[in-house]
Amino acid sequence: MAISQVYYMDGHSESTETSLVSKMLTVFDAARLDDMISPNDIVAIKVHCGEWNNTAYLRPVYARALADRIKELGGRPFVCDTTTSTYSPWGSRSNELDIMITAERNGYSSAVLGCPFICADGFIGTSDYRVDLPEGYLLKEAYVAQAIAAADVLIALTHFKGHSMGVIGGALKNLGIGAQSKRGKLNVHMGGHPKYGFGAAGVFHPEKFKGKAETPDWEIIEDCCPFDLYHINDNDELEWDRERCTTCLGCFGVVGPRGLVDVPPVNFDAVDVAIADACLAVEKVVGRDKVGYINMAIDISPRCDCANHADVPIVPHLGVFASTDAVAIDMACVDKAKEAQGIPGSAVEMMEAHHPGDNKFEAAAATFHGQSEVASINTGHENGLGSRDYTLVEVEPADAAKYRFPYDRRPSRQRFKEQFEKFQPFPYDRHDGQGFARNEEVDLERMKRHYDHSTNGHHADVEIEELQPADDN
Ligand code: SF4
Repeated sequence: MAISQVYYMDGHSESTETSLVSKMLTVFDAARLDDMISPNDIVAIKVHCGEWNNTAYLRPVYARALADRIKELGGRPFVCDTTTSTYSPWGSRSNELDIMITAERNGYSSAVLGCPFICADGFIGTSDYRVDLPEGYLLKEAYVAQAIAAADVLIALTHFKGHSMGVIGGALKNLGIGAQSKRGKLNVHMGGHPKYGFGAAGVFHPEKFKGKAETPDWEIIEDCCPFDLYHINDNDELEWDRERCTTCLGCFGVVGPRGLVDVPPVNFDAVDVAIADACLAVEKVVGRDKVGYINMAIDISPRCDCANHADVPIVPHLGVFASTDAVAIDMACVDKAKEAQGIPGSAVEMMEAHHPGDNKFEAAAATFHGQSEVASINTGHENGLGSRDYTLVEVEPADAAKYRFPYDRRPSRQRFKEQFEKFQPFPYDRHDGQGFARNEEVDLERMKRHYDHSTNGHHADVEIEELQPADDN
């Protein structure tokens, strides 16, 4: 397979043109993703809008700036995410109503984005398009969210971070899970699979259920499965209809911690492989030359944005990447994370995997020992989606003028002189023209001194001087 190009700018920012928003647009152009868009094209921008109370997801300004750029090119953008599998009884994005509420709370609204925010797989997640996938390594079909399948162009705008199941949450997962409908997710999660599915591979321990009398919250065990597969029978015994398990993962947080079912690690490994097949399905339905990828490798939390929290980042900002190859772009991000020094106090330091060269996501993000941070990448290389071999092309910042506030380019006097004459913000008529009541002089050096906790802050050398306020006239 040919070597792919990944366009890259680092995570530092010290000026208009090196703002991370500017860098995102600069690598978008450098990777020629702009060339994919023709006037009137419907362009889906696939994001992760963040779970309720997650704080590491991408700020909506990135999607807004990208939507504005797409409009400049003549395209008709919309920003989208999809309903989740049920995952837990209290997930905040498992139908359209919930995802719209959560997205709006997280800032993803049409008012912010300047274009619609869409739940791409419909009200309950069954609005989709089935794709045959003979090339798939594990999956032989996939169900792509309808609004994404209907788009002319797709830009996967991905927050690159860790993920407890996928190990990495990158471009592959943004489409391999995030662009699948709800039934597409059940497919990728191995629902009904005779070997890798939760129903097939989970180890059931009914003996650990001690009866309703000793389990005051027993009702949650029956209520945690939306397919109604757990029952406590007339003999006060727990039954699980595992044959019908869809691997929706709704019960994980209830039956796992109670030891009622051992969650099977092999299920996670199989999902990581299936993610790359499902990503290939998305490219097949939208067009192999009509999907572009931007990875924002910033705020790199160990858990995904689908967690209802966000931990200390495990490595510093790695940078901003763009490519037409989902495999290469994720490989480049994993390689950068591997080279990086881990952040003190983060999960990688706790796992003693903070040194350059350590596989940080396997140590800090994976649920099970033995999961691989390159399983999806290797599968995407194998199934023809993309290439692990890439050239990292460092992109220079563009002209700052391109990224300045665009609405009023007049210098300050032209913009404000007349307005200030009418609505004078500085009270020249007060305090002898000085405008405001203030002390004439204070001890600025004293205020800059660090507090010394060992002496309760007492510094013998400091003389406290009473300063008089200036006349207020
Ligand atoms: S038993 Fe299967 S279908 Fe029911 S909640 Fe658990 S994973 Fe989902």
